[in-house]
Amino acid sequence: DRRGTEPNYLFNESKNEDFIDVWHDPNPYINEYGQNHLPVRKQKTAEGHAVRATYLYCAMADIAQKYQDESLFEACENLYNNIINKRMYITGGIGSSGVMERFTTDYDLPNDTNYSESCASIGLALFCRRMAQITGDSKYIDTMELALMNTVLAGIAMDGKSFFYVNPLEVWPDNCIPATDKNHVKPVRQKWFGCACCPPNIARTLSSLGEYLFMQSDDGLFINMFAGGEYKTTALGGFKKLDIQTKFPFDGKISISISDIPDAVVKTENSEANKKLYIRIPSYAHNFTIKINGSDITDYRTENGYAVLSKADIASAWRGTDIEINFEMPAHFVYANPKVRADAGKAAIKKGPLVYCAEQVDNGENISSIMVDITKPISEYWDENTLGGITVIKAHGKTIKNPEQYDDKALYSDTPAELGYKEITYVPYANWGNRGAGEMYTWLRRFC
Ligand SMILES: [Zn+2]
Repeated sequence: DRRGTEPNYLFNESKNEDFIDVWHDPNPYINEYGQNHLPVRKQKTAEGHAVRATYLYCAMADIAQKYQDESLFEACENLYNNIINKRMYITGGIGSSGVMERFTTDYDLPNDTNYSESCASIGLALFCRRMAQITGDSKYIDTMELALMNTVLAGIAMDGKSFFYVNPLEVWPDNCIPATDKNHVKPVRQKWFGCACCPPNIARTLSSLGEYLFMQSDDGLFINMFAGGEYKTTALGGFKKLDIQTKFPFDGKISISISDIPDAVVKTENSEANKKLYIRIPSYAHNFTIKINGSDITDYRTENGYAVLSKADIASAWRGTDIEINFEMPAHFVYANPKVRADAGKAAIKKGPLVYCAEQVDNGENISSIMVDITKPISEYWDENTLGGITVIKAHGKTIKNPEQYDDKALYSDTPAELGYKEITYVPYANWGNRGAGEMYTWLRRFC
């Protein structure tokens, strides 16, 4: 509540004799940069440093929940809506400007000079997780999942040993050089950073993934995201274990087996009787079905994007219940709102929560010259041998014929380049840059 009011504590602090300028913040202080331009309840647009902004929003959400503060919650909703409708990349990245690592203006989403700090997407996931807990609404989980499964995962190499701080959606490594507007863009993951916030932030996020996958309330357990593993919980009454098997996000089949933990050290008094299981129905899921102990369940209730299973849906008790979830999530083209100048006339590809990209290692040099045909079907197949096992996507398109002929030609000409057929290979954005340095494009120009 002190933010955006006078006296301005951020200005005053910097005037103290013993003030140490640790962060080299802009001086004089730019109020937007530190979300100090308005009282937080009046802020309707996400401004300033993107990581600091999301951490502030987390605190606002926590206090809104703790004190049932409706005007503070409303501010959180306004800020969330501004981010997801006007200021977020398709990858769940936020912070369009390399200068000051900040939000800029609505629809300003450049792909090759953006910041999209790994920590900012972690901050967005933290904020969304809190908003989901307050509202029980899965729309926040859709955004959280987008940030986690694209930008945050791209922030760490598949061997876990190097990191991106900045997450561009388009890279041409040759021109990512110092003292330019791509000074901050690194075409390969780095071992460490002078200000090394992102590597440990990704580490703690991945090691606390359970807090994102699951959520609980007084009346039951929420399964927010799907991942294979074992989860122990008291949220269904007693002490239970969920064994979850799935190849998500490459496959929409999830098997959950619930059992009691008889010798549990933790004894709970809460009974199973009124406990519910909330299973998220992702916004991208087609033909979502649930089977319980082998039988189709069709009359379950849905609430805020969750399928709600109660005791009436299961045989007798949660223990001994086998649940099978199935849905489809075919790869498809996505287009940006035409107000996003950087993506005008372009198309991206998504499959479920995963955004895909085209890399030089699969498609050759000069990916910018490749155009994708949005009228032709795209195909997808499981490839055991690429990037540790992924679903690869192929699309049809065109590119320049014999590009080497242009090596010695004039910079400009009266004749457009001749185009020929091109099969385009896409891999998940989260996995990009794991096969050496090369060009990468998330959005390709489209034709139809
Ligand atoms: Zn960071």
